Amino acid sequence: MPGVLAVKPMNKQDRIYSFEFFPPKTQEGMAKLREARKQLAQLGPKFFSVTFGAGGSTRDRTLETVLEIQAAGNEAAPHLSCISSSRDDIRTILAQYKTHGIRHIVALRGDIPSGAVTGGDFHYASELVEFIRQETGDWFEIEVAAYPEFHPEAPSARADLDNFKRKVNAGANAAITQYFYNADAYFRFMEDCNAAGITIPIYPGVMPIYNFTQLSRFSAMCGAEIPRWLRLRLQDYGDDLASLRAFGLDVVTELCDRMLASGAPGLHFYTLNQAGTISTIWQRLGL
Ligand SMILES: Cc1cc2nc3c(=O)[nH]c(=O)nc-3n(C[C@H](O)[C@H](O)[C@H](O)COP(=O)(O)OP(=O)(O)OC[C@H]3O[C@@H](n4cnc5c(N)ncnc54)[C@H](O)[C@@H]3O)c2cc1C
Repeated sequence: MPGVLAVKPMNKQDRIYSFEFFPPKTQEGMAKLREARKQLAQLGPKFFSVTFGAGGSTRDRTLETVLEIQAAGNEAAPHLSCISSSRDDIRTILAQYKTHGIRHIVALRGDIPSGAVTGGDFHYASELVEFIRQETGDWFEIEVAAYPEFHPEAPSARADLDNFKRKVNAGANAAITQYFYNADAYFRFMEDCNAAGITIPIYPGVMPIYNFTQLSRFSAMCGAEIPRWLRLRLQDYGDDLASLRAFGLDVVTELCDRMLASGAPGLHFYTLNQAGTISTIWQRLGL
C-alpha cells in the first residue's frame, strides 16, 4: 500500500538527518555559510555534506569547506563525482581526505557540462564506489544517489533500479534521494527496493521552496517533477516571494511529516546554504 513503507518504523532517536551545502565562491559567501552552519549545527545533524562540481571544478573549494566544517567539530561528507576524472585524480583526492581524517563520502557520477569533452576512467557511480572500496577498504562510509522519480537518462524504471542496485552491491552504505514533491514516488521506490533485496537506508532528499524560477530550472535539469497542482500555485505567487515561501513551507513540512511518519530513516536537506527555512520546518515537525 503506498504511503506505508514496507520497513520497520524508525524510532525517533535512530533517525539520521544531514544538511547539504555547496562550496561558496567568495569570502562573503563563506561567511554566510559559516552562520548557516552554526545555526543548523544546533539541530544535531549526523553530518554536513558539501557538493563537488562535475569534472572537479570545485575541488579546492569543496576541500576547504569540508575542512572548515570538520575544524568546527562537525562531521563532514564531501561529495565526489567521477565523470571526466582519471583513476589517479580520484586516488589523490581520496588520499587527501584520508589524511585529514574524513570518513564519509557521497559518491556520484556527476553531470557532463554541455559542450564539454568527457574522457576519464569512470562512466557510472557504481564504478566509483567499487574503486573507493578497492583503494581504501572500509575507511569511508559511502552514500550514493537514488531517484524515486527515476534518473532522466534511464531507459526504464526497471533499468534504473538495476543500476541503483549495482551501486549498493559495489559497497554503498546508504543512499540519498533526488528531491521530489510526490510522496508516492518515494513509497513505491522503497517497495521496489525491498522487493529487489536492497536493505541500505535511503534518506529522502528535501528541497525547500525558496524561488519558483530557480526551482523550475533545477527540476528541468534533474528530472524532479513539480506536480501540476504545485507548479500552478507557485506560479500564481509571481513576485510575492513571502507568500510563495509561506506556502512552500507548508508543502515541504507536510511532505517531511509524511516521510517520517511512514518510516523514512531520516531526512537530507538541500539547504542552498540557508538555515532559516529549514530551522522553521524543524520546529514545525517537532524534531
Ligand atoms: C543526493 C545527490 C547529491 C548530488 N551531488 C552532486 C555533486 O556534488 N556534484 C555533481 O556534479 N552532481 C551531484 N548530483 C547530481 C548527479 O551527479 C546527477 O544526478 C548525475 O546525472 C547522476 O549521478 P549518479 O551518481 O546518480 O549516477 P549513476 O548512478 O552512474 O547513474 C547515472 C545514469 O546512468 C545509468 N546507469 C548507471 N549504471 C549503468 C550501467 N552500468 N549501464 C547503463 N546505465 C547505467 C543510471 O540508470 C542513470 O540513468 C547529486 C545528486 C543527488 C541525488
